[in-house]
Amino acid sequence: MKLIVDSVQRFSKMRAHTATHLLHAELTKIFPNTKQAWSLVDDDLLRFDFYAERLLTIEELQTIEENINVFIYQSSPVVCQEMSLQKAQELWAKAFFDEKYWETVRVIQILSSNLLNENSKKNFISIELCGGTHVQNTKDIWAFLIVSQEAVASGIKRITAYTGPKVMKRYWETKNILQQVEEKLWVKAENQILDKLEKELKEKEEMNSKFESINTKLIVDALKSGDFPSNDIFDKIINISENNTLKDLELKNIIFQSKWIFTDSTIIIFNNEWWFALINSKENNSAKDISQNLWLKWGWNENIVQWKDPKVLELFK
Ligand SMILES: [Zn+2]
Repeated sequence: MKLIVDSVQRFSKMRAHTATHLLHAELTKIFPNTKQAWSLVDDDLLRFDFYAERLLTIEELQTIEENINVFIYQSSPVVCQEMSLQKAQELWAKAFFDEKYWETVRVIQILSSNLLNENSKKNFISIELCGGTHVQNTKDIWAFLIVSQEAVASGIKRITAYTGPKVMKRYWETKNILQQVEEKLWVKAENQILDKLEKELKEKEEMNSKFESINTKLIVDALKSGDFPSNDIFDKIINISENNTLKDLELKNIIFQSKWIFTDSTIIIFNNEWWFALINSKENNSAKDISQNLWLKWGWNENIVQWKDPKVLELFK
């Protein structure tokens, strides 16, 4: 049993490894001077880091995916050969790393299945010096799917891809998500999702802006009609937690509107959660100095101090 599991696992790594060579060859078409920075080969999963100044476009990623799948359908033989380093260099084998190779090297060639000319350098899809294990034919990879692209370090990009049965598994997972989205959006087919989503988002935006203008009107009315206490320092002392209208509305907007409504005055707005805003629009006065004198937290702004301080509730008990 162990033997079977191991061989299945080994096969899934072989698929990912041969696909890595195909990916490397495809990337070289786009970035002729690119090199591998790091590579991980796992069960039907590959992660390939390579040198490139920019990320690939969606079109380029699609082309790579398409080309590699075509190589898979074309059933190209994967040939492993030992040869002299000189012979390998003549064949343009790209070494993965800048390490020193021995005189005899192992070369993995993925041959082009439509050999037009035996002597042409184009009779292979990929040629690399490599010591790893590979499938014998590209058809054994089954399928290739790029799942992500990211920038991992300066000048280094990463492509993660699946091979073999993982591609189908990913397809079903994605399809499952799409079906759930369809149900939630009440549409009957995938191609209706985007239209419906755009409609919903537009409606949401309109609702938000209506909601905001209603809220603003409520705030302005409550501030203008409110009977707020005052003392020697403040023209208005507004505890919004104790105002039936204001307590449910957004503190940020209340502060904003107060600045417009209460001109030439010094006011304090606070709630029972200790948030306060000390606003001053009088000349020869400073929000910073007032809050400092009251032993409240203060900032450098002369017109407004916004903070959270439990002392604010003690001050206006
Ligand atoms: Zn390899």
